[in-house]
Amino acid sequence: MSEKELYRLALSKYGPEAQTLMVFEEMAELQKELCKHARGATNQDHIAEEIADVLIMLDQMMILHECEDLVFQYKQEKKKRLENRLRG
Ligand SMILES: [Mg+2]
Repeated sequence: MSEKELYRLALSKYGPEAQTLMVFEEMAELQKELCKHARGATNQDHIAEEIADVLIMLDQMMILHECEDLVFQYKQEKKKRLENRLRG
């Protein structure tokens, strides 16, 4: 099964509403791990796990909202803007 097939299957099995709630949940879990790290915890593995969860959910959101190409375009533009800003 391709990654895209897997995500489409998850979206159709659990539904767009449940998967959207999962985005909030996974982002909150990542936020919690980053907060712990900011307060001095050594939690690289937990941070990595939660980043993976968020990336998986964001991939599903791109499929759900049919905006993969648009996200790619924005990402290119924003990276270019950041690079220009950093070069001063
Ligand atoms: Mg998680």
